[in-house]
Amino acid sequence: MPNRYEGKAPLVTVFDLHVHTSRGSSDSNLTPEQLAERAIEIGLDGVCLTEHGGGWDRREIERTFPSELTVIGGIEAATDAGHVLVYGMQSYVNGMHSAAGVRKAVDRAGGVMVSAHPFRNLFNPRPNIANLLYPDPCARPESPRRASEHSVFGAVDEMETANGGNTPEENEFAAAVARELGLRGTGGSDAHSLHGLGRCVTVFDGDVRSEADLIEALRNRAFAPAERPALKVSAPLSTHSQDVCADDD
Ligand SMILES: [Zn+2]
Ligand SMILES: [Zn+2]
Repeated sequence: MPNRYEGKAPLVTVFDLHVHTSRGSSDSNLTPEQLAERAIEIGLDGVCLTEHGGGWDRREIERTFPSELTVIGGIEAATDAGHVLVYGMQSYVNGMHSAAGVRKAVDRAGGVMVSAHPFRNLFNPRPNIANLLYPDPCARPESPRRASEHSVFGAVDEMETANGGNTPEENEFAAAVARELGLRGTGGSDAHSLHGLGRCVTVFDGDVRSEADLIEALRNRAFAPAERPALKVSAPLSTHSQDVCADDD
């Protein structure tokens, strides 16, 4: 692949690939304005608005967010094979209740599809909260290799291995499954409030400044997930916080 950064200093671009705002996710209390202010403050280069309801278009994003932050609209869709993050689409089309349907829609749109927090609640299921890929606890996979055989991983391009709402054990298991599948793994906070924004990120090689750059970088595997547990912010929270990620998000 030709290196379009040849002759320039090496760059990385840090994105939170999984954020919900109150504009497109009814379970979020994070306003777009709060998101922009805090994302810049903590040094994010970009964020993806993976709203449950989708709905952002490019013009509205440009109107809402300052130009120094790259903001890209996406979707987090609830399917028959768990939640999937969609990049390269801003609104739903028919059939996106199934992973196969999302795959078709994403292919038509030229986008990328990522399994979101695939192993949340796998190890310590609370009453009435099951893992979405293995609703029957008795069918829980005994190893990352067995988990890698789940059909969802035949439908997606990538999987999230660093999710800010997951336990370390859940993320470590996801990373082991990604290794089995030869996937890089992506990172995103799954923030629904200021709390935890940017805790997990995806670090891209090179300069990612647009949806097209993002899709290209994801396709070229030019990225790695990262966690930022020592993240510090200087300003007090300007709104009350809630859990990073509710159990059904
Ligand atoms: Zn989410
Ligand atoms: Zn989710």
